[in-house]
Amino acid sequence: MRILISGIEDERFHRPLQLIANLFYEETELIYSSENDTDIKINFVLDIDFNEVKVEVTLQDHDGKNTTSNLQKELIQIDNEKEQWKQIKNTALSAYLTVLQDYTGIIQKWGILTGIRPTKLLHKKVQEGITKEAAHQELRENYLISDEKINLMQTIVDRQLAVVPDLYDLRNEVSIYIGIPFCPTKCAYCTFPAYAINGRQGSVDSFLGGLHYEMRKTGQWLKEKGIKITTVYYGGGTPTSITAEEMDMLYEEMYLSFPDVENIREITVEAGRPDTITPEKLLVLKKWNIDRISVNPQSYIQETLKAIGRHHTVEETVEKFHLARKMDMNNINMDLIIGLPGEGVEEFTHTLNETEKLMPESLTVHTLSFKRASEMTQNKQKYRVAGRAEVEKMMELAENWTEEHGYHPYYLYRQKNILGNLENVGYSLPNQDSIYNIIIMEEVQTIIGLGCGAASKFIHPKTGKIQQFSNPKDPKTYNESFEDYTKKKLDILEELFAADKALTE
Ligand code: SF4
Repeated sequence: MRILISGIEDERFHRPLQLIANLFYEETELIYSSENDTDIKINFVLDIDFNEVKVEVTLQDHDGKNTTSNLQKELIQIDNEKEQWKQIKNTALSAYLTVLQDYTGIIQKWGILTGIRPTKLLHKKVQEGITKEAAHQELRENYLISDEKINLMQTIVDRQLAVVPDLYDLRNEVSIYIGIPFCPTKCAYCTFPAYAINGRQGSVDSFLGGLHYEMRKTGQWLKEKGIKITTVYYGGGTPTSITAEEMDMLYEEMYLSFPDVENIREITVEAGRPDTITPEKLLVLKKWNIDRISVNPQSYIQETLKAIGRHHTVEETVEKFHLARKMDMNNINMDLIIGLPGEGVEEFTHTLNETEKLMPESLTVHTLSFKRASEMTQNKQKYRVAGRAEVEKMMELAENWTEEHGYHPYYLYRQKNILGNLENVGYSLPNQDSIYNIIIMEEVQTIIGLGCGAASKFIHPKTGKIQQFSNPKDPKTYNESFEDYTKKKLDILEELFAADKALTE
């Protein structure tokens, strides 16, 4: 779909206009120079007065049919340039969204919001002390978010504050993410650092050497500064794709290096692929008091697993879940994906029925997203996926099913190119919510990433300013440079927490 945009001079509009167009059409191209060969034309008339903005957006299609939207908003806080620009932008985008909705008949329940973390917006309002009603009104009017999604956001925010009452005061602590970049095989939709583990032992050994080093140095720094760890999360890849002995040494390192491990609020190990779980590895987890794990079915349809490159059987998922239960794993998360190739309402209903037999403590329901680098996206024609209406129906099924079975939503995030412009939602049974998931989604404290592909997010303890830093994704580069990466992160931490000290003194 080629769309000619006129009447917009400011280039800061280009990205949001593109993201919103992508919600309506696949492979959209926005053109800003006069061209005849376009499918539709959208013209903006922006009239910005001292304290008011008026926007008229007109869409003209091939047949000459016109659809128009007019919007007028009072500008508040006009002495703040950034704030003023935001209001002008949101008004223009709202009129643009309305015209596309009227023309296509597709309603976007998230309105003009295309960001990853919608709940962060509501948390900000809570912290500003705005009433719920006023906050909802703002979300409705300034972002055109539907009441259904506003209610979901509110439920999640309430839940998060109940589970972590000191959520807004965690900035002086940190959480740790540890990335193990190996998997038995690579799934078709995956863009994580996940290298097939078979035949890579040399590379695994060196990687673990580097990881132990990073853990030791980081732990030492935290101990010296007296900074506590809130949560630790082992992800990847599949952290259980290494051997039981390697896992044992890794957790021993954690206990030796990190400060006050006994009082860390939560330690999670993703054991995502059932084909990596063994009684020996479960014993190791138990030995080190790790009881939150993920066993991820994604689907209970065998053909789907085969189509997406997960070389394990449905029976194996069930069998490994029971094994983990038997070995005292009492907080198990399971990931499901809506909209996997070849799956519709019938298949997803089957998956929910199978989930009912296991009742894991938490359930993360993802909606398939076409990430640019995945095998699935690069060979899109090979994979048949459900349409928007069916995906929405499946999402609704998940919502109803979780509610009927005593789960509540406790975190959510959105991704680009996600089917039906929907979201990923984490559900849990009472008191089984993952604190790490809440912390990472709401960006309330620094998360130090160790290991391959681990992204660190440094959050200034006072200003909340975010700084990102990524370790290399492939083991070879990591193995050659982990000392350097560790030093760079410690330098950032030093600056961040020293700045904090200076401010509090
Ligand atoms: S198990 Fe997870 S990390 Fe590994 S290839 Fe599959 S999706 Fe990627």
